[in-house]
Amino acid sequence: MARLTIDRVSKTFGNYRALDAVSMEVRDGEFLAVLGPSGCGKTTLLRQIAGFDQIDDGEIRIGDTVVSDARRHVPPEHRRVGIVFQSYALWPHMSVFDNVAYGLKVAGVKDPERTRRVKEALALVGLEAFAERRPGLLSGGQRQRVALARCLVTEPSLVLLDEPLANLDVHLRAAMEDEFARFHERTATTMIYITHDQAEAMALADRIAVMDRGRLLQIATPSDLFRQPANETVARFIGEGMVLPAEVGAADSEGRCHGRIYGLEVSLRASPLQKAGHAKVCLRARDLAIAGPGQTGLSAHIVRTVYQGGFFRLEASLVRAPDVTVHLAVPEPFHHGPGDVVDIVVNDGWVLPATTES
Ligand code: ATP
Repeated sequence: MARLTIDRVSKTFGNYRALDAVSMEVRDGEFLAVLGPSGCGKTTLLRQIAGFDQIDDGEIRIGDTVVSDARRHVPPEHRRVGIVFQSYALWPHMSVFDNVAYGLKVAGVKDPERTRRVKEALALVGLEAFAERRPGLLSGGQRQRVALARCLVTEPSLVLLDEPLANLDVHLRAAMEDEFARFHERTATTMIYITHDQAEAMALADRIAVMDRGRLLQIATPSDLFRQPANETVARFIGEGMVLPAEVGAADSEGRCHGRIYGLEVSLRASPLQKAGHAKVCLRARDLAIAGPGQTGLSAHIVRTVYQGGFFRLEASLVRAPDVTVHLAVPEPFHHGPGDVVDIVVNDGWVLPATTES
């Protein structure tokens, strides 16, 4: 088990900056998800941690040991990093037992210790009974568990998981998510889990690092990411936040302020450092509601209603700014449809901190 420190790491391919001064610290025993759209640099980051490439700039430390900087490069086999790939990468001609034992054999671990450790690893993933089977006779989820056992048997200080559930169907993914979570609880191994699936990251991770175009945008707990996104990209990417312009007052020490969104008076959450002026506000569908009797709201034309069991998801465009579309969840019964005008109240919102982000 170990802490991982990534300090201003950059990696360029040709003239494309795949990683741009990325810094983060992963705590000992932490489960960190790295989340971002395709091409944002997730796999590149993982490859630098594993030691498959030489970094251009910055430093990577595992525990107190520098494993990469612009001059130094500890090879992958000396980093004690285990990797689980989406493709499992099992040897089809070997039994489950031999697949798991392989790394120990290469490392010169002899019997009876080798057998003992393989049995322990298989027990950890619940596959003792499948030791003699070939991978071809296992389900996708079982194969992924073999890959996990094979990684863990070498007792890595850090486990990197590259979209390990991407090849599984939706039911198996949910079951495997539970298994990963339980497994992490049992072993307390430091894990870095790459995914582009937001729900998976939220379900599993202690913290999530959100990346975009080679940069780290924010690293925070799932709840902080959702409730207090650092900028507009994170706000839109996590939980489909709506970002609207507002005029806000200075925040109080509790992090509350008044604001106006298209003329509507609202009470908002903000950093206690928030100053008065123009700002952007992140709103969530569940923070908006249809105005009750006597309430003033933003008038909006309903564009679409979609029934989602117990409630309708509404898409509406503001009368004062027809280009602005908002989404809200409205409980049934609800008898309006496209073309109708409704008044929408804003019950909560987060003022995005001023940022230099383009
Ligand atoms: P995905 O979710 O699709 O796997 P990702 O976030 O893991 O995407 P990376 O694979 O890290 O993204 O790629 C980041 C960028 O760097 C992409 O634009 C990719 O084309 C580029 N890239 C990655 N490896 C190389 C390479 N060896 N040579 C040139 N360009 C590369």
